[in-house]
Amino acid sequence: MTGIGAERTQEIADRVERFVRDIVVPFERDPRRDHHDCPKDELVTELRELARAAGVLTPHILPDGSHLSQSETAIVLAKTGLSPLGPLACNTAAPDEGNMYLLGKIGSPEIKEHFLKPLVEGRARSAFFMTEPADEGGAGSDPSMMTTTCRPDGNQWVVNGRKAFITGARGAKVGIVMAKAEEGACMFLVDLPDPAITIDHVPNTIDSSMPGGHAVVTIRNLRVPADQMLGHPGEGFKYAQIRLSPARLSHCMRWLGACVRANEIATKYANRRQAFGKTLIDHEGVGFMLADNLIDLKQAELMISWCASVLDTGSLGTNESSMAKVAVSEALMRVADRCVQVMGGSGVTNETIVEQVFREVRAFRIYDGPTEVHKWSLAKKIKRDWQKANP
Ligand SMILES: Cc1cc2nc3c(=O)[nH]c(=O)nc-3n(C[C@H](O)[C@H](O)[C@H](O)COP(=O)(O)OP(=O)(O)OC[C@H]3O[C@@H](n4cnc5c(N)ncnc54)[C@H](O)[C@@H]3O)c2cc1C
Repeated sequence: MTGIGAERTQEIADRVERFVRDIVVPFERDPRRDHHDCPKDELVTELRELARAAGVLTPHILPDGSHLSQSETAIVLAKTGLSPLGPLACNTAAPDEGNMYLLGKIGSPEIKEHFLKPLVEGRARSAFFMTEPADEGGAGSDPSMMTTTCRPDGNQWVVNGRKAFITGARGAKVGIVMAKAEEGACMFLVDLPDPAITIDHVPNTIDSSMPGGHAVVTIRNLRVPADQMLGHPGEGFKYAQIRLSPARLSHCMRWLGACVRANEIATKYANRRQAFGKTLIDHEGVGFMLADNLIDLKQAELMISWCASVLDTGSLGTNESSMAKVAVSEALMRVADRCVQVMGGSGVTNETIVEQVFREVRAFRIYDGPTEVHKWSLAKKIKRDWQKANP
């Protein structure tokens, strides 16, 4: 991927940073939240209008539909992440950002016009339907366990099954649904809401940044026109692969931004608060925590930058994004935990975003592949490589 160059990227990143810090941050105390503290759509819509006016809506996709390179995206998305509301305001949030990337890569002109355009314009939200309820033996860490089925019927496909943890399903206009046919996994684009897809419930989860929460849904005789299948029957996982690494990495980018801000807040606290006759920062225990944060944040930034540069060569970057996802999510967890600790009691209140960032990063260690699953797949690669080198 060629991209737009360092200077233009920095110009966009600076504009995004000013917008997030000056305009979005004051909305962090806005009471328009749902019952588990996710921003309501009316709040998101207002923020998007402000982003549009500031010229920072969907800043990683250019007016001609082309994307910034992954290396450039990393710089811009980290700035949108400086507030948990920033990615929503700027339209760089999950799952829309990954879904837009996928549709931009492989959608037909008709699919781009109908499904992608409203997403890029920030007028609609989308949801990605892959995971299934664990207690019914469905797909989770192991997507090959998928139990949702699809079968052709004339020029339509009929989909049946149950899904779980579907971020943003409630309120989404666009759905990407994975189901299994005789030939293997298939991926469909669907208009939402559809009476054949019902939201059973939305569990109360540890995180609170994604509108609509993470729904459990039932799909009953959903009829999808054949031309809304992406690719051919059996190619679903191939297309999921295209989305996988960039979507994984963009979570790292956004949560890096959030942890940079949490660390700024903790640093301010440590430089102002007195205890035992001196400022906290002068107590070695506190100073070392902030020093460790600096090291972890820089390592996270470098891992993201390295993985982005691999993706920019056109590689799927499966192993590299596994390594980056584990390294970054674990490093950010340490950073967020230290920020809470440095701030004492105020670290666990919602007076600052620090406690939310802590909760968000905890969930991030599970979605887009739990740490152990990435390590397991890396271990398989290590074994394969060793066997190849030692026949
Ligand atoms: C906040 C959030 C948002 C999500 N959004 C979406 C979404 O929009 N769409 C969607 O389709 N899904 C979504 N998911 C689901 C997510 O992708 C799954 O939770 C994840 O893939 C793990 O699946 P599981 O929960 O069924 O865990 P399980 O598969 O039951 O695994 C449980 C644990 O077992 C361990 N484990 C599993 N396999 C291995 C292995 N091979 N080696 C070692 N340990 C292993 C890991 O520690 C893992 O955490 C979301 C999840 C969360 C938490």
